[in-house]
Amino acid sequence: MIVMKFGGSSVESASAIEKVASIVKAHQDRRPVVVVSAMGKTTDGLVAAADHAARGNSYLAWRQLGELRNFHIQEAQRLLRSQAQVFIEQHINPKFRELHVLLTSLAEGDRQLTPELRDEILSYGERLSSQIVAAAFNRLGIKAAHLDARRLILTDNQFTHAEPLYWETYAKLRRTLPYLGEDTVAVMGGFIGATEAGATTTLGRGGSDLTASIVGAGICADEIQIWTDVDGMLTCDPRVLERGHRVRTISYREAEEMARLGAKVLRPATVAPAIRQRIPISIRNTRRPEVEGTQIVAKANGSNGTVKSIACKKNMTVVHLDVRHVGVLPSITEGLGSLFARHNITVELVQARPAGVSFAIADSAVLPELLHKVDHSVQVRVEEERAVVGLVGEGVGSTPSLMSRALSALKGINVRMHSQGSSLSTLCFAVPETDLPGAVECLHREFFSAVDPEVFAAAREIVEVAPGADRQRSLVLAGGSRTVPAL
Ligand code: ASP
Ligand code: MG
Repeated sequence: MIVMKFGGSSVESASAIEKVASIVKAHQDRRPVVVVSAMGKTTDGLVAAADHAARGNSYLAWRQLGELRNFHIQEAQRLLRSQAQVFIEQHINPKFRELHVLLTSLAEGDRQLTPELRDEILSYGERLSSQIVAAAFNRLGIKAAHLDARRLILTDNQFTHAEPLYWETYAKLRRTLPYLGEDTVAVMGGFIGATEAGATTTLGRGGSDLTASIVGAGICADEIQIWTDVDGMLTCDPRVLERGHRVRTISYREAEEMARLGAKVLRPATVAPAIRQRIPISIRNTRRPEVEGTQIVAKANGSNGTVKSIACKKNMTVVHLDVRHVGVLPSITEGLGSLFARHNITVELVQARPAGVSFAIADSAVLPELLHKVDHSVQVRVEEERAVVGLVGEGVGSTPSLMSRALSALKGINVRMHSQGSSLSTLCFAVPETDLPGAVECLHREFFSAVDPEVFAAAREIVEVAPGADRQRSLVLAGGSRTVPAL
């Protein structure tokens, strides 16, 4: 069995859901369990409606709710055609009537917007989407069974960020999913669960990946596929430099480092249950299912010391501490270390120098207060608006030649500090934020000009003639295709 998770943008409309159906059909022999997010921006819409109602602004609350209702009805009609009316009467209208009652009680001040009520309201997004998707599958020739995620995902009662009760949940999943019948696809909403007492909970925003991971771990799935709107993990952040290649496989540890250093594709915490059981996770693009995506596995191909990706993080602050007596350094770093730990501040990179230490942290708001506590004999210099660029790859931190290669590639860039990151899988550089694109470009040229096709899906070139223009070379890249002038 496999788990296929489709995010909000993958189910944002009737045509998107039809695309999902064709993707699921192609995997039907692997007995997929389908986990879906709320359609498009529905969760944001529900948050807005709840907030308007809680402020007593019932006009805006109704308007928001009306928009959501029209949207779901319209897409259901497009998907279900002649069966739409019955479905809407049975599954959509009652839910919006319930939401109306909840919002009214809020707007009229009969109830407070407690975390519990907030979860109840937000849960409707996934309850609607999962039912619509299941109905659409059945109409499109996929035998599907809708399952209420609240009957399967058991959580504690930390409303809005509930913690799953793993073993109880795994037991429920194992008692249910394998017995649905070989040809039946289970469809359930992500993000939502329930307490033992039956109160609806949510796992926190973006929580559908966690649902997919729990379901995968529960049924010991062969694979968890996360279908989203990008081709996979790339060799550089597309927001900074577009020319990245797709990385075919990365290890759990590499994915974790990339996420920690700012990559947006996957949050490590949400896939922890799958990682614990060594289940491969793949990132796939719903709009381009022919692309293989990125496989995240325990042991990726590519030798130790291969740079897999350049990650980067903006809004960083670099702090240099200089001491007159080197002997006091250990006690200062130790003191700062525990101070940061207490304030939950992660130190992104640390560079020890003969007369001091430099480090980069994400949070500068609490910095003045923290540095106030540093001894007067220590000279402190703070640099704001810095970015951290990291080379990520298993073993890159322990391959000495890579640091000198990177530094010479960065020759024209004002590198403020550099060091092995907080693990053996990263090498990090702090640069002025304005130099970030240049730094990423230099490093990308150095490390990804000639790449191993086993590890990376490098740019494929196709020659096409654009009408009325010179012969153009079109580069088909991991992030989509762009046309560049002929050389
Ligand atoms: N629909 C929820 C959200 O937008 C959960 C998810 O999409 O993962 O946060
Ligand atoms: Mg979402």
